[in-house]
Amino acid sequence: MTVQPEQEQRIVAAIEAAERVTSGEVRVHLNDRCSGDALRDAQKAFTKLGMHRTAERNGILFYLALESHKFAVLGDAGIHTKVGQAFWDGIRDAMIPELKAGRWVEALEYGVAEAGRALAEHFPHQGARDRDELSNEVSRG
Ligand code: CA
Ligand code: CA
Repeated sequence: MTVQPEQEQRIVAAIEAAERVTSGEVRVHLNDRCSGDALRDAQKAFTKLGMHRTAERNGILFYLALESHKFAVLGDAGIHTKVGQAFWDGIRDAMIPELKAGRWVEALEYGVAEAGRALAEHFPHQGARDRDELSNEVSRG
């Protein structure tokens, strides 16, 4: 599925905004089709992107298979311990209606903002010594 540059830019902007207030890292991975198990695909992408290598284990991945209409959100151990499964479920439940309506960019903007708020609460931005540990670009495939 074709993703317009403008759509990608909006997602990157949402990630940048989220990361301005936290040391945590947010990534978005887009796929056309999913193997059937979005969570498993998300876990694979998480590893492939090296998202388990952040210092505080506070990376969050949004995985979306555009043609399969499958979606998963996954947080590394550091943030997962703080927020628990209910937090991911809450983000997912809030995003589903938007995704179903085809507003996937809006859904991701919302999810990324929510993830950023939780990260900021538990992993505040480290000022000048904060590093962008993971690229803010949308990854594909
Ligand atoms: Ca960072
Ligand atoms: Ca980043």
